[in-house]
Amino acid sequence: MKVIVIGSGLAGLTAAAYMCREGHDVSIYEQFSEIGGVTATIHKNGYSWDIGPLLLEGLAPHERLGKILTELGISEKINIIHEDRGQVFPDFAIWRPKEYEGKYWRRDYFKQLFPSESEGLDRYYRYYDQIMTLMAINNQLEWAKGLNAIWLKLKILPKFIKAKKYMDKSAADIMDSFFDEPKLKAIFMGILADFVVKPSEFPGLGVPVSNIETAFDKRIPIKIKGGKLPVYHYVQNGCEQLVNAFAGYIREHGGEIHVNSLIEEILIENYKAIGVKLKNENAIPADIVIASGGAHKTFFSLIGKEKLPLDFVRNVENLVHMESVLMVHIGIDFDPTPYQRAALCYYYGTYGIEEAVERCRSGDYHEGKEGFLIYIPSFHSPEMAPPGHHAVTVYTIAPYKLSKGDWNSRKEELADKLLIEAEKVIPGLREGAKTEVIMTPLDFKSRIFVEKHSFGGLAPIMNQQSPPHQTPIENLWYIGAQSESGGGVAGVVAGTRKGVLRLLKEY
Ligand SMILES: Cc1cc2nc3c(=O)[nH]c(=O)nc-3n(C[C@H](O)[C@H](O)[C@H](O)COP(=O)(O)OP(=O)(O)OC[C@H]3O[C@@H](n4cnc5c(N)ncnc54)[C@H](O)[C@@H]3O)c2cc1C
Repeated sequence: MKVIVIGSGLAGLTAAAYMCREGHDVSIYEQFSEIGGVTATIHKNGYSWDIGPLLLEGLAPHERLGKILTELGISEKINIIHEDRGQVFPDFAIWRPKEYEGKYWRRDYFKQLFPSESEGLDRYYRYYDQIMTLMAINNQLEWAKGLNAIWLKLKILPKFIKAKKYMDKSAADIMDSFFDEPKLKAIFMGILADFVVKPSEFPGLGVPVSNIETAFDKRIPIKIKGGKLPVYHYVQNGCEQLVNAFAGYIREHGGEIHVNSLIEEILIENYKAIGVKLKNENAIPADIVIASGGAHKTFFSLIGKEKLPLDFVRNVENLVHMESVLMVHIGIDFDPTPYQRAALCYYYGTYGIEEAVERCRSGDYHEGKEGFLIYIPSFHSPEMAPPGHHAVTVYTIAPYKLSKGDWNSRKEELADKLLIEAEKVIPGLREGAKTEVIMTPLDFKSRIFVEKHSFGGLAPIMNQQSPPHQTPIENLWYIGAQSESGGGVAGVVAGTRKGVLRLLKEY
């Protein structure tokens, strides 16, 4: 079949790799001048920074992305670095202890900070263990076949029934059922500020899943009842290594990747995709079109509402997106190790996650005061900065549209304000900066060609229905962070693989 893939982010690259693997004639069209979407690494004056994902879940050989790299035979093309991160709040910092203190050291530390919550912490960690076991079996199930799959299904069923009572509960409900202290709740819900989702909207079952203890201490043993825990890795020398590994596979298997190639229309005849139209060029016919990218752009601009069923259009219209980010990349001429002991740390300036998300959604930008993260990739990959120097990224969530002014006119001012906040952690960042790259929501918008930039795609809100891989248009498949795959590197790659295997079965 002649297959056209729209977009060269990890979703598009995964789809193309699996279609090439089956011997199909595959072409990727990417509107930007470089491949990779948000998984790209940028370079300037000898420094390199990732513009998207940092510490990745899923890359270990027992995890879904690791298994896919092995399946495609490209796992040797990248080096991964097992790591963890810090988390700092206004009143306390959570860094792994120098000497390993066992897999529940965070629970014990929280008991010291909040003695009245001791019983709730014991109950929370029992809940955490229960969900981790369920997840570990489920992860194996995705790849299991035959008798093994039946055995795992039998094993998961009682655990699933036990966890069912939590299904309708939000993260806020779950936290209220364990704790009274707002600061303790904020520790477990802080990451929701990153997703720009309110605790009252986020599924309660997602709380342990977004607070896996190995993210905070890489020494925690991964073997648990039911399987293995997820673990976290950096890609050595930046995420572009992952992108290059996929792109290399596609080219070796006869696929083509075209950059500077904007698809402005998906051609449809009798509810069937028949090809695409490139900007300023003729139509290109195809048997299958696989589109990644924003849902609004794909379905409303490239296709058109009139060609889609009404209920599908309504659903896409009502999707809630995350907000965007302001990212400041700098190259510094000094060693920041005395101020931040690991490559990555999240700094929170507030405990009020629900209200902070509400403010962000209404365009009220906190200018770095409510939190940011500092990532220093040259800690784990010294090649990402000149000798003796470091590459530093400071970023925070930010409204796509500011209520006061606009990103173009306030770019420098707001980047400077963010660095002033970061200097409370690492003094001298601005003076020591030898080079700088600022990325506002508008820069991200043009980099990945979306209607509204939202940093992880759709907000993970309970009962929100992301558009399915198999669209109402015959021969048109939809993949990527805004599709049913969900956002995140491992989610996008594993979801796309699943979608493409289904597509191959259908044809
Ligand atoms: C700042 C940031 C931090 C993140 N942190 C993490 C993290 O720590 N862990 C994690 O797992 N995930 C993280 N993510 C999310 C993760 O990176 C994404 O969910 C995932 O990479 C999305 O892949 P994708 O292929 O769906 O989309 P993209 O990477 O956006 O790729 C889509 C591509 O399609 C192209 N395109 C779109 N429309 C067209 C068109 N009409 N014609 C031609 N080309 C087109 C775009 O130019 C783009 O290159 C982060 C994302 C960001 C932005």
